[in-house]
Amino acid sequence: MGNQFKSLGASSLVPAAMLGLLGVRGAMTRAELAASLHVSSATITSVSKQLIARNMVTELDEIYGEGRPARPLALNGNNGRIAGLKIAPSHVTMVISGLDGKVFTQNTEPFHVAEDGGIDEMTRIVQRFVDKEPSLLGLGVGIPGAVDSPERGVVNAPSIQLRNARIGETLQQRLGMPVFVENDVNALAIAEQVYGAGRSCSTYMVLTIGRGIGCGLVINDEMHRGANGDAGEIGHFPMQPDSDRICPDGHRGCLDSLIGSSGLLARARELGLSQGAVSEAPIDEQMEAIDEYAQRARSGNARIRADLFEWAGDLLGKAVAGAVNLFDPETLVLLGEGMPQWDLWEPGFERALRAGLMESRRSVPYLAGSWDESRWALGAAALVISSLFNRSDSGRMSKAVRSRLSQIALGKYA
Ligand SMILES: [Zn+2]
Repeated sequence: MGNQFKSLGASSLVPAAMLGLLGVRGAMTRAELAASLHVSSATITSVSKQLIARNMVTELDEIYGEGRPARPLALNGNNGRIAGLKIAPSHVTMVISGLDGKVFTQNTEPFHVAEDGGIDEMTRIVQRFVDKEPSLLGLGVGIPGAVDSPERGVVNAPSIQLRNARIGETLQQRLGMPVFVENDVNALAIAEQVYGAGRSCSTYMVLTIGRGIGCGLVINDEMHRGANGDAGEIGHFPMQPDSDRICPDGHRGCLDSLIGSSGLLARARELGLSQGAVSEAPIDEQMEAIDEYAQRARSGNARIRADLFEWAGDLLGKAVAGAVNLFDPETLVLLGEGMPQWDLWEPGFERALRAGLMESRRSVPYLAGSWDESRWALGAAALVISSLFNRSDSGRMSKAVRSRLSQIALGKYA
């Protein structure tokens, strides 16, 4: 079973974690709260007494199950909202959602962060978006690159031409709210911890296919960031060192260079399947071109099916088998803008994955998730929630989120 709250030791963290959990999952009994937060029922009883007295939590009518009837607890009134931002090479996507992950507002704007004054302009775009929302707990930011720590938010992201960029500090000062910055795939893995597979698994891998090939690793309920926030870069596994494909980091024949969207389009051209879409086109055009190949494959083009998509699935399966052998996850979750074509990748992936696994792990399950572009930003927003549950995140920013949650629950914001 997943136990993402195991580091919640100090009882001073329990009230905010309880408010956060009721916001994420809805009404819960005291017994369910104690089990989920891994604290004693005595702690839950005393904390809920305080929260009820402060009018932040209310008791609902009794429910009758097995054993003694129990009165579930629920949040009283406004429980705050969270904001998420995904920075992509050619656009930014923003969402505002409830604590339960329900999206209220979303917006995508074309934008290049690497241009002169790019970070200032991005800050203005985000400010216009969040200004309409008075009761925000904070902002989570997902970027395609490495981040020193979510609270400091210093970014190195060659794909959007950012080097030692102080994204976290800049946004936090201009917006005046807590900001957490994380690698975009890591943010998706943390969102799974709050809302998805991570609620029942402690060690799992989130893989993304699309523009690049990404991986987020949660090991024993902890996001594995590595020494520099660079862990999980499965896209740079060397697969075909003799290939003439080179990724933006300069690797010849790494997984990204071969089966990221540019690589896939270059492969199609090499096979003589080209419809004219170039591998240097903006990501939306690339994904559209790949989708056209997918439609041709589904309507009977066996060559595209086998030599493009199954070929890509095969390479992905080989790399993922290596990673599964190394980390032994309970499950895999597949996401990313390439998911609409997953039916075509899957046969190649399935064969290569199973063939490459240790016999004892040959049946490792995977879940192919549905996808839309707002999911990146929603994943980033989950960084804010996650800070309520984890003592290892209890820095300045997490404290600020806890304090805003109390203010909002007391009705002092909205
Ligand atoms: Zn590479």
